[in-house]
Amino acid sequence: MIASEPALRVIMRRLREIMAEPGDGQSRLDKIVHHVAGVMVADVCSIYLKRQDGSLELFATEGLKATAVHQTRMNRGEGLVGRAAELNITINEPDAPKHPSFSYRPETGEELYHSLLAVPIQRSGDVLGVLVVQNRTLKEYSDEDVEVLQATAMVVAENLMSGAVAGSEPEFEISKSMSAVIKGDAISEGIALGHVVLHEPRIVVTKLMAEDPVAELGRLEAGMLELRASLDELLSHENLANDGEHRDVLEAYRMFAHDRGWERRLHEAVQSGLTADAAVERVQNTTRTRMLRTGDSFWRERQRDLDDLSDRLMRILSGRKSKDNHEDMPPDTILFARNMGPAELLDYDQSKLRGLVVEDGSGQSHVAIVAKALGIAAVGGAVGAIERVNAGDAVIVDGVSGAVHLRPSSDMVSAYTDKVRFRARRQRQYEKLRDLPAVTKDNQRISLNINAGLLVDMPHLAESGADGVGLFRTELHFMLSHTFPRLERQIAAYSSVLKEANGKPVVFRALDIGGDKVLPYLRQLKEENPAIGWRAIRMSLDRPALFRMQVRAFMRAAAGQELHLMVPMVSAAGEMDQIRALIQKERTRLRKAGLQGPKKLRLGAMLEVPSVLFELDQLLQKVDFISVGSNDLLQFLFAADRTNAHVANRYDSLSIAPLRALKTLVKACKKYNVPVTVCGEMAGRPIEAMVLIGLGFRSISMAPASIGPVKSMILDLDSRRIAALLNELMRDNTGSIRNKIERFAKSEGIDL
Ligand code: PEP
Ligand code: MG
Repeated sequence: MIASEPALRVIMRRLREIMAEPGDGQSRLDKIVHHVAGVMVADVCSIYLKRQDGSLELFATEGLKATAVHQTRMNRGEGLVGRAAELNITINEPDAPKHPSFSYRPETGEELYHSLLAVPIQRSGDVLGVLVVQNRTLKEYSDEDVEVLQATAMVVAENLMSGAVAGSEPEFEISKSMSAVIKGDAISEGIALGHVVLHEPRIVVTKLMAEDPVAELGRLEAGMLELRASLDELLSHENLANDGEHRDVLEAYRMFAHDRGWERRLHEAVQSGLTADAAVERVQNTTRTRMLRTGDSFWRERQRDLDDLSDRLMRILSGRKSKDNHEDMPPDTILFARNMGPAELLDYDQSKLRGLVVEDGSGQSHVAIVAKALGIAAVGGAVGAIERVNAGDAVIVDGVSGAVHLRPSSDMVSAYTDKVRFRARRQRQYEKLRDLPAVTKDNQRISLNINAGLLVDMPHLAESGADGVGLFRTELHFMLSHTFPRLERQIAAYSSVLKEANGKPVVFRALDIGGDKVLPYLRQLKEENPAIGWRAIRMSLDRPALFRMQVRAFMRAAAGQELHLMVPMVSAAGEMDQIRALIQKERTRLRKAGLQGPKKLRLGAMLEVPSVLFELDQLLQKVDFISVGSNDLLQFLFAADRTNAHVANRYDSLSIAPLRALKTLVKACKKYNVPVTVCGEMAGRPIEAMVLIGLGFRSISMAPASIGPVKSMILDLDSRRIAALLNELMRDNTGSIRNKIERFAKSEGIDL
C-alpha cells in the first residue's frame, strides 16, 4: 500500500533540488506544481495559500489558466479546497463538480476536470494552504497518489515556514499575532484571563530533509531500539507484573512497536530523503488517512496505538524522553486541547489552572463536569482554536457566552477585568445567602445539594451551604488511579468523604464506568456505541465481584451511619432485584465477619434510560429513592450523543418531550411516596431549576458554583405560578418553550 519507492524518491529528490536552486519564492512554487503534475500524471496541480483573513488564494498552478493566479480566492471553508483547509482533511473526489461543496470558478477554466485530490499544507496542525491535483478523467486517486501529494505538501509547508518559498510567510505570522475571537459553547461557567498552554503539544519536526540518509537510518534504528527497550521496561515493572489488564494494553503497544510493516514504512520514508523524525510523522499521517477512511472502530483503536507510539518515538528522537510534566505552567494557565478526558485535566497543577478550551466536547462531557467541579471556566466546540494560537499567547475564556478571545486588545482586557470584578461582587452576594434556607415565596422548601466526585470537592459542601451531596461520582477516583483501587483504599476514600460531609447526607453512586468513562487498567470491549454498551449497572451485574467490593467498601465506611447508594443506568425494574441480592450477600458477609455495617441502607436508582419510564409502577416499589440523571436521560430521549458537540446542543432540555417525561415521573413518585431528585447538569441552571420546581421536584443536585444562583432564583419564585404556567404550556405546545419561560421570569422579576 505504500507509495512505490521511485515515485516518492523522485519527487523528494527534485523538491530538494528546487529548494536549493536560485530564484524567488514564486518561481519555486511554479516549479513545484509543474514537477508534481508531471510525476503524478495530473492535468492540473495547484497551490492555494491561506491569507490573513482565512481565505485561500491561488498562488501557483500548472494546468489552470495562468491569469487566475493571485486572482482566484476562495472564502474560508468555500469549495472543496476550502473544506480541505477548514477541516484539515484530505479530499479525494472522483467527480468533484458533482460534490455539493464544489465551487466553480470560471476564471480558472476548471470545468474540464472531474477528479480532484486536495491535501492540506499543514505544519503542527496549522493549515497554511492546500495542494491540489485534478484530472479530466473520473477516477479515485490511489493510496500512492495520496501519499506522494501529502509528502509534497509536507515539504512545501516546511519551506513556507522557513520563508524559502512564496515570500508570503509574514501572513502566517500575522495570523497568529492578531486579536481574534472564536465562538464555542460555554461548558463551565466562569471567566478567566491567562496564557495559553497547549495540551500535549506535539513535537514539531523542524528538520525535514536528511543530509545523510545513512546516518538518518542509524538514528531511526537507535530510536526504535530505545522505544522497544522502554516498553520492555514498562512491561516488566514490578507494580504491573501481576496486573493482567495493564499487561494486555502494553503488550499490544509492544507488538505494534515490533510491527514489521511499520518499521518497513519508516525505513522507506527515510530512504526517500526524510529525516527520521519527519518519517515518523509522515507514516503516522498517511496511516491515519487510510485507517480513518475505513470508519472501522478496530482501526481507530489501532490508530490510537500508533499515535501514541509515534509520539513516543518522536520524543525519543528529539531527545525529550518522557511526557512533559507541566512543571513550567504559567500561574494563569489556559489549557487548549483538541479533546480531553477528565483524568487528563486533573494531571495539571490545579493552583495554576484558570481556564480550558477544547475543540471537541460539550457541556455534558466529563471533562466539562470536572472543570465545573474545579471552578475552571471552560469553552467547548471551539473549532480551529489550536490552529490559531501559540503557547504563551494571552487569552480570555468567557465561560458564560462561549467566546474565546485570542490575544485580546487592552480594551478587551479591561472590559473583562471589570466583568470579573462584577462577578466576584455577585459571588459575595450569593455568599450572604449561604445560611438562608432555600424557600420559595409560597413557602416551599427546596433541598439543594452538590455534585461531587473527589475529596477536594467536599469543602464546597460547607462553603455553599448545601444540604448534602446529591451525587458522588465514585468513578473519578478510579479514573485517576493507575491501578484498580483495592478494598482498603476504597474504604479510606469513602470514609474521608463521609467525615468531610460532617453529618450531611452523601449519596454515593456505584461505579459508572464504560461509555466515555474509561479505566486505563480495565480492559473493555471495543464497542461501536459505548454510551449504550456494556457500562454501569450492566457491568456490575455481569462482573459482580467488582460491584460487591465497592458495596463492601461503602458498608465499612458508613459503619453505624446511614448509607445512601444509587445505581446508574438502570434500564429494567428487575435489575434492582439483582442489585439488592448482591447487596444482601455483602450484608451477610459483613455480619459473619462480625463487622459493623451501616445503620440503614437506602438504595436508589438513577433514572437515565427512557425504558424505565414505562416500568415506573414496578421500579418504584423496589427502590428507596430516584435520582434523575438528566444528562443521560436527555441524550437517550433525543438520541443525541452528549459528548459530540455537533449534536449535543441540537435539543433543548426545556422542550415538551422531556418535560412530559419528568412530569410523569414526579406524579408516579408521589403515588408511591418515593423521594425524587435531579442530579444532571440541568438542575444547576437557574431557568431549568425553576422549571423543575414547577414540575414538582423539591430536591435538586448541582455543581457547587450553581448553588448561589439557583438559591437566589428560588427566593424570588412563587412555585404555584410556574406550575400553573407549565400546566398550560404543556397542554398543546411542541418543542422548546424556553422563550416563554424566560418571558415569565422577566415578568415575575426573577433574575436568572
Ligand atoms: C447524568 O447522566 O445526568 C448524571 C448525573 O450522570 P453522569 O453525568 O455522570 O453520566
Ligand atoms: Mg449518567
